[in-house]
Amino acid sequence: MNERADADQPERSSLPARDDYYLALAFAAARRANCRGRSVGAILVKGDRVIATGYNGTPEGLPNCLDGGCLRCADRAQFVSGTDYDLCICVHAESNALLTAGRFGASTDGTTVYTTDQPCFSCSKELIQAGVVKVFYARDWHPDPRVSDDYLRLQRRLGAEQVPTHYEIRRVDELP
Ligand SMILES: [Zn+2]
Ligand SMILES: [Zn+2]
Repeated sequence: MNERADADQPERSSLPARDDYYLALAFAAARRANCRGRSVGAILVKGDRVIATGYNGTPEGLPNCLDGGCLRCADRAQFVSGTDYDLCICVHAESNALLTAGRFGASTDGTTVYTTDQPCFSCSKELIQAGVVKVFYARDWHPDPRVSDDYLRLQRRLGAEQVPTHYEIRRVDELP
């Protein structure tokens, strides 16, 4: 090993390089998000291979959220952030990753998820039931306080762990 070359390396994050790599992919996926809400990206990893990726937006073949395709996302005065997800036409990044894996026949059992944002209440349920065993996320998410105990239980079950990141997201409508 060339110790001199190592000494010249800039200081790295305390994360193992592999985790940092998958988190970077999640942030890259988030740049494709087409939703007026947060841009979110998620990567599904199994056996050190990416088996599916996802970002949030309206279902295939429907008008994009940024083009007014989702009533809930377009009217935040009526639909408060973090609530009424059942009335939202946008599919979340984690959910999209699971659905893509299912669509193309990749087992999600025993997978790890890397996501830009802590999974919401609904995605957390789905991830557990799809057999996801670990979640790494960068930005935290807060549930409706009425269900915070249940949400914590879901997060513990997922082994949800926040990791520091230097990555940033620029929305698709903010790109040059
Ligand atoms: Zn949306
Ligand atoms: Zn979600």
